Amino acid sequence: MIDTVHANDPSAVIEADRAHVWHHLTQHKPFETVDPRIIVEGRGMRVWDIKGKEYLDAVSGGVWTVNVGYGRESIVRAIADQLMKLNYFAQSAGSIPGSIFAQRLIDKMPGMSRVYYCNSGSEANEKAFKMIRQIAYKRYGGKKYKILYRERDYHGSTLAAMSAGGQDERNVQYGPFAPGFVRVPHCLEYRRHEQEGAPSEHYGEWAADQIEQVILREGPDTVGGLCLEPVTAGGGVITPPDGYWEKVQEICRKYDILLHIDEVVCGLGRTGTWFGYQHYGIQPDFVTMAKGVASGYAAIACCVTTEAVFEMFKDDPSDKLGYFRDISTFGGCTAGPAAAIENMRIIEDENLLENTRKMGERLMNNLHELMSRHRVIGDVRGKGLFCGAELVADRSTKEPVEEAKVAAVVAECAAQGVIIGASNRSVPGRNNVLCLSPALIATPDDIDEITTAMDRALTKVFS
Ligand code: PLP
Repeated sequence: MIDTVHANDPSAVIEADRAHVWHHLTQHKPFETVDPRIIVEGRGMRVWDIKGKEYLDAVSGGVWTVNVGYGRESIVRAIADQLMKLNYFAQSAGSIPGSIFAQRLIDKMPGMSRVYYCNSGSEANEKAFKMIRQIAYKRYGGKKYKILYRERDYHGSTLAAMSAGGQDERNVQYGPFAPGFVRVPHCLEYRRHEQEGAPSEHYGEWAADQIEQVILREGPDTVGGLCLEPVTAGGGVITPPDGYWEKVQEICRKYDILLHIDEVVCGLGRTGTWFGYQHYGIQPDFVTMAKGVASGYAAIACCVTTEAVFEMFKDDPSDKLGYFRDISTFGGCTAGPAAAIENMRIIEDENLLENTRKMGERLMNNLHELMSRHRVIGDVRGKGLFCGAELVADRSTKEPVEEAKVAAVVAECAAQGVIIGASNRSVPGRNNVLCLSPALIATPDDIDEITTAMDRALTKVFS
């Protein structure tokens, strides 16, 4: 139930919000006539808004974050205990939770070795970009400075992260962007008909070959890094086609290109393994993570790399600028790793990876069942508790439905008390994927409640 102490005057809170708060990724004009949604409390899978309405949260805090659910007292206590001992010291010194979490994290990531702390996904990605750039100077006289990124992937909101942004609508009006970032084509098999020359068989290998073509066009001696999401999130829940990742790894090895996997969404359990890349047997050079690392109980992000990369930065007295000259002030906050240790313990002790695989299967089955009855669903995709349903006006042409209809489905689900998401404001004309990412603690009843709400919403909006 709602905590009335914090919401004793809902209308004053709503008015203060309306007057002074700039919401993320939101058009504000509608707030002149509609109240902004203000979430005041959460327990398990559910949240309550300031008017007392209860929702089943099928998107883990809106953006794939609250992996272990709301109201976890043990995480709150771990943070409080740590803050009473030491809240902060710059990460040029170590900390107890920082050391312990790094050890536990690396235990889950064979082949990786070093953890660089910071506080957002964008920032973690920029750390990896800077390391790749500096390696280009160390080993190739600065020549191998280009970083490849993929159409429809997203790596953050800061300007360099946006320079590696494959979601056009997010980038419009914010350029010019940083040079040295080069786009490669997406690997969404459902839309292969829009890609010239894409075959109906062995599409995954073909899509990976397109990366090689870009490398050859740019010149392999100029390309230092390749940054990819293991499963693309906001760009439309794109699960990689068979054969894709094996070939990508091969290409990186062939041209001496560092592979950077952006696990900001998939990281810590979302797909049913600790990390998304672990489904595909690949060995990255960089792994970045943020959202699910502490489930939103504290801000924490990590850029994780190998001992081989770290070795290149080890202090060499003859090269005074050779170490990594970078800092993130809040990378020294101890609340983040303290929360992350407890978050990881919960995932292990409550067998949440297994639950994610089982509930993910149920969610996919339910989505397939919806697809069999709703012709507007053209494709369903997903891995673990990370699923999407692509809505099309016509199954044969795959013409996307109008974005307003996607928004209407999301709004109708919310009216029924289930919060779902959409591939919002990412690719113009392609924001037509309903996105689902419930917390890893979801039960069969939760999963069925989500798809029942979607069923009703689809019927209402499209009949
Ligand atoms: N990478 C991916 C795949 C993301 O989805 C996001 C955010 O949605 C980011 C990076 C950026 O993370 P942050 O918003 O913490 O900077």
